[in-house]
Amino acid sequence: MARPFNFSAGPAALPLEVLEQAAAEMLDWHGSGVSVMEMSHRGRDFLSICEQAERDLRELLAVPPSFRILFMQGGGLGQNAIVPMNLIGRAASHTADFVLTGSWSIKSQVEAGRYGQAHIAAKIKGERPVRLPSPSSWQLNASPSYVHLCSNETIAGIEFQDLPDLRALGCDAPLVIDCSSHIASRPIAWRRVGLAYAGAQKNIGPAGLTLVIVRDDLLGHALPICPSVFDYRNLADQGSMFNTPPTYAIYIAGLTFQWLKRQTEDGLTGLAAIEARNIAKAKLLYDCIDASSLYRNDVDPSCRSRMNVPFFLADESLTEPFLALAREAGLLQLKGHKAVGGLRASLYNAMPIEGVQALVRHMHAFEANHA
Ligand code: PMP
Repeated sequence: MARPFNFSAGPAALPLEVLEQAAAEMLDWHGSGVSVMEMSHRGRDFLSICEQAERDLRELLAVPPSFRILFMQGGGLGQNAIVPMNLIGRAASHTADFVLTGSWSIKSQVEAGRYGQAHIAAKIKGERPVRLPSPSSWQLNASPSYVHLCSNETIAGIEFQDLPDLRALGCDAPLVIDCSSHIASRPIAWRRVGLAYAGAQKNIGPAGLTLVIVRDDLLGHALPICPSVFDYRNLADQGSMFNTPPTYAIYIAGLTFQWLKRQTEDGLTGLAAIEARNIAKAKLLYDCIDASSLYRNDVDPSCRSRMNVPFFLADESLTEPFLALAREAGLLQLKGHKAVGGLRASLYNAMPIEGVQALVRHMHAFEANHA
């Protein structure tokens, strides 16, 4: 059966090999006689799955030993509350700084305001093309508990190509990044980061698992109101087994990490290979958009997302016919987010270059017929 290409922004396509392996192991994992879903999270089999997933993720993303990897629940939006509950008490002022670059970072700032002072250090302007505010223009507090940004805005399609060096800006606070929609698509500069969090349902696995990668010294600062299951210290101390973790989602994430480690591209392997492929995929689509008079993307090339490409038709009434013909051609979930309309193609790790080539062919054919 030929599967269609799924451009969903999330939950999103997973690598076919991962789905096939999960299917083959569904009823009987490695001779255990049970499905991973049916295992005790404290039993030897599941612990080995979880430890392997953590080791593979650490290796893939080159996570330094001074960082802990936590498997949590509650999603990206859960972290909007869990991060301030754990970190905002670090500074006596209970103040954190926020860089607003789109819907997801705005949500983070609003939610943090329930736990302390959520100060807006910078905000993207309404200009076209859209540009990220330069770090040198950010109005950071003297000593905030942390500085938060969303390193890839999934709806607006805006990505930080480099993370800011807060120390060079005279700020000692840890940088917190919401990397939900581009984790594992490129390396993370850990020396610039204190905490990274991501919902799994885009580049990693099923919804229900949330990854938190946090520097050791940031543990142990939770506010008294923080629920015990959301206190990073408790999760770190108990290897993410403070309570029942999302076991099946961790298992699938582990298979995805192994798939990522196996990838090769132009002599590269693992994350370097997937990054090279992601760069090539994004270039193919942006080049098609830029060369056309029918399609338009409003983001400056300096901060265009490799993962989420929002685009618009010059004649908006053609959006529905475009989508209908795309579906017929096996190109699914290209409708733009309801907040912005238009179209959006998400090109996560599991999207092969062939999918982007098929999309570009469809775009050319549609343009030729509607010129
Ligand atoms: N942050 C980003 C960047 C996202 O893309 C999303 C989901 N699309 C969220 C946070 C919210 O994640 P969740 O639905 O897992 O709470």
